[in-house]
Amino acid sequence: MPRLSEVIAALDALWPPERAEGWDAVGTVCGDPDQEVTRVLFAVDPVHEIVEEAVKLGADLLVTHHPLYLRGTTTVAASTFKGRVVHTLIKNDIALHVAHTNADTADPGVSDALAGALDLRVVRPLVPDPADPTGRRGLGRVCELDQPLTVRELAARAAERLPATAQGIRIAGDPEALVRTVAVSGGSGDSLFDDVRAAGVDAFLTADLRHHPASEAVARTTEGTSTPLALLDAAHWATEWPWCELAAAQLDEISDREGWGLRVHVSKTVTDPWTAHAASAHPSPATTLPTSASRPPSSDPLGAPN
Ligand SMILES: [Zn+2]
Repeated sequence: MPRLSEVIAALDALWPPERAEGWDAVGTVCGDPDQEVTRVLFAVDPVHEIVEEAVKLGADLLVTHHPLYLRGTTTVAASTFKGRVVHTLIKNDIALHVAHTNADTADPGVSDALAGALDLRVVRPLVPDPADPTGRRGLGRVCELDQPLTVRELAARAAERLPATAQGIRIAGDPEALVRTVAVSGGSGDSLFDDVRAAGVDAFLTADLRHHPASEAVARTTEGTSTPLALLDAAHWATEWPWCELAAAQLDEISDREGWGLRVHVSKTVTDPWTAHAASAHPSPATTLPTSASRPPSSDPLGAPN
């Protein structure tokens, strides 16, 4: 049975903490290096429901993608929600370890898992890590499809293959445009538009896209200044969850190799903060569609209003 320090050393070899961004807060948040580990739970968010799940499971180690504290704190009082997380973890002898931007850029990393979930063939990183001589590490991935799909079909595949969320998948651009190449980036991707443009892909699948960057990307298409770019916006949590399965499989393999006998689990609890989605029930003012009273129920799997 391995000690926490041995398991953490294995995780640090997969996602070296020094490769995290300077603003990030990765590594072990709590836990005794000498405690023994038999059961590990992977999840995206270190929120209370996940910690409760770890307690019920009898986990000794919780590994999350998102940090608990990104900035410093002066209190872990149980009257604060993050402090409550720390208290519950320590009372139950559960360690918490975070692999965030060091897992994003790893090979394989968060966007490899996302591409794998969608059956996309990874060609290269979207933003290569200049420190990596193999050219395989970096942020986001540029991918090819074995068979071209329309944007609508690719969105339907993402909706089917990624865990279900209230948001589903939003599309910007022409839903009927053909996609042969797509950039993917798990988590918030709207700082990557320049790299996506430079990659010359047909589509970009990420999360947390905002009005102005999305609007500009589509406007540049209509100006004819660049190849048409379609955007697919999924829930942040859903784009990063496939990494939990990848990471759990990686730790399983190490456990087998080392003879540790770890039991490794992936949380299926949806911790996306958005809990419901009301699609517009009436046509936009610019359309001449029948009124909502006479419209048949939408069969559009994407829940698009038009
Ligand atoms: Zn994230």
